[in-house]
Amino acid sequence: MRVYCRECGDRGRITKTNRLSPDYTELYCQCNDAECGHTWVGGFGYRHTLNPSAKTTTQMAFQLVKALPPGAQKDLLRELEGAR
Ligand SMILES: [Zn+2]
Repeated sequence: MRVYCRECGDRGRITKTNRLSPDYTELYCQCNDAECGHTWVGGFGYRHTLNPSAKTTTQMAFQLVKALPPGAQKDLLRELEGAR
């Protein structure tokens, strides 16, 4: 990940990270230009999902199937086997 100094435009480097939550991390940054010397804190965070995790969708499918009445579970199994 690249960071840039807002004061001089030079590239900076991340010297330390502080994970505040599963969705947000603070980034301690330092300008690469020794004559500038700017240090700052930026952030990196989760915004939204584009494609759900396969782990999540499989778990959701199992929970949905478990919630079905027994008759509907059998119908679903029959349909799935017919689709093969
Ligand atoms: Zn700078």
